Amino acid sequence: MRIHLVTMPWQPIELPSLQVGLLHALLDRTRPDDEVREFHGSLRWAEFLLERSKGALRPGDHVAVGSESIFDGLGDWVFSGVLYNDPEWGVAQLKEYAARRGTDISTATAMRVHAAEFIEESADAILDEAPDVVGFTTTFMQNVSSLALAAELKRRRPGLTVVFGGSNCDGPMGHALHRNHRFVDHVVRGEGEYALPALLTHIDAGTAPADVPGLCWWDGQESRANEESRRTVAPADIPSPDYDLWQQAVDASPVAEYVHPKLVVEGARGCWWGEKHHCTFCGLNGSAMTFRAKPGNRLWDEVDRLVRRHRILDIVTVDNIIDMAYFKDFLPLAAESRWDLRMHYEVKSNLTAEQLELLARAGSVHIQPGIESLSNRALDLMDKGVSGSRNIRTLRECENHSLTCSWNYLYGFPGETDQDYASVIDQMPALVHLQPPGGAHRIQLERFSPNFANPALGFPQRRPAEMYRHVYDLPEDQLADLVYLFDTPPAGIGGGTEARLKAAARDWYTGHPASTLVLEQPTGDETLLVHDRRHGWPRRTHRLTGWHAAALRHLEAGRTRSALHRLLTADGDPPTGAELDAWLRETVALGLLFDDGRSYVSLPTWHVPVRSVERAQAPDGTAGGASGTPDNGEKAAG
Ligand code: SF4
Repeated sequence: MRIHLVTMPWQPIELPSLQVGLLHALLDRTRPDDEVREFHGSLRWAEFLLERSKGALRPGDHVAVGSESIFDGLGDWVFSGVLYNDPEWGVAQLKEYAARRGTDISTATAMRVHAAEFIEESADAILDEAPDVVGFTTTFMQNVSSLALAAELKRRRPGLTVVFGGSNCDGPMGHALHRNHRFVDHVVRGEGEYALPALLTHIDAGTAPADVPGLCWWDGQESRANEESRRTVAPADIPSPDYDLWQQAVDASPVAEYVHPKLVVEGARGCWWGEKHHCTFCGLNGSAMTFRAKPGNRLWDEVDRLVRRHRILDIVTVDNIIDMAYFKDFLPLAAESRWDLRMHYEVKSNLTAEQLELLARAGSVHIQPGIESLSNRALDLMDKGVSGSRNIRTLRECENHSLTCSWNYLYGFPGETDQDYASVIDQMPALVHLQPPGGAHRIQLERFSPNFANPALGFPQRRPAEMYRHVYDLPEDQLADLVYLFDTPPAGIGGGTEARLKAAARDWYTGHPASTLVLEQPTGDETLLVHDRRHGWPRRTHRLTGWHAAALRHLEAGRTRSALHRLLTADGDPPTGAELDAWLRETVALGLLFDDGRSYVSLPTWHVPVRSVERAQAPDGTAGGASGTPDNGEKAAG
């Protein structure tokens, strides 16, 4: 059998598709007689645009449409005219939507005129290889480009078998995608490692795949959806990805000179925190929350093999949360290696300073610690399991260890009040030397999140996000099953507090590049010097001696007032309660401490931080720089 694995726009062009790499390796192992080919449609699209626009549409524009517009659906819209065989389909709707929201659609509009020809050329290229089965992987805004190509392939070769899989096919979304698109023969819902080989066995035998868990298939004109299995793929059965054909495609591509290729690795699936305390807004793990991780030494062997094979040191991990066991095995192995790695990792924000130091020593340069908020009450409402002080400590240690940190300030949690934000907003100017949020954003209702599953949590009214109306020509009841994001009436803060939060986040972002707040301890002295060079603050050096200096050091870990007093008493130089209260008030006012209402944490860093030229995020919360983030824009993490 000849099998073609396809990844269409908007797979980030600097990254191989993990799904294609995994399935290729899986098929090589389970079906050695098959011939497996790949079509890197996203890379081809970037090449096509570069050539057809005579250099006007560059790979950087791919990021603007494919990653940064995820909440406006522009990437899908680019191909919707091809899918519906009408160049004008969705144009008026998008123009009206964009005018109302102030959305820039110029790049997407310039791209859309090339979409039909690209789909035709893609179909030519794939059919030239005479495949029996074409498998599409679809995540984020890959649905419409994939559907458009699948429709064209089936129109030309009705006997071809078209299979869809990927995150966009999880649960009800997969069945809706199948029953609304007759040219899609099968949809694999959930993980593909067991289902795809089982389906291919049925295709070989010409039998009905009624026993493949989760699969959608056609029984005559009826779309059937097999019951999904609760069984998840064991780590031992998750292959190591094969990126050889991706590397060939990149090496041969004129786009190569515009991108900085990175490797994608997977250590774990699911979320160990979410198994017990599913963050209320998070739908990231779909229907497979169960946490599973490859052993650390196996993950290291994979990374080592891929680095040697591809001569690429940038590693993007797709794990939604790091396995804490990796601090004992994988990360020490990476730290001891002679590779000068640059890893990107999603972690939880409650890591210790030592753990962050190990992450940095192992070659991590960029983390997403899922900070989300600095308000204890908002963090409690979202069941995040961290405090505002703890999050500040993480931001501070990122400076100490030169870790770029991506995060967004989320708000709009049912039950939150203006009061929950007042103190944090007041203190934000003091945080300007720490890495800022990409922006402050109201949460959107995500399928699979507790907020979605349980309307009683505060979002009883919901409908498919408005952007889908310029993406799909489907009735609302079908969209309600097909899509991932939903619009709801706003919850939580609004009005003046919302505006103040957004303005404070913007000021933080713009003031950050010129701001430092650095500790110095002269040799042989207990005196502490704090050099304040923060934007918006007087340029000065604070000198702390005696218990003041000791208190600042104790508060590096973040402590309650009473815990701090106990420590100072144990030091043998205790202030009175009134003296301590006065010092805490004064030091918060000087912007040297952050007070989350329960505990205090010190703000100065020990080093003048390294500032990356390529900003991790733009002030609107979208990916910045030339390559963007691997997760297509805003994403909660860890
Ligand atoms: S936000 Fe992060 S920690 Fe929370 S459930 Fe989602 S993946 Fe897990």
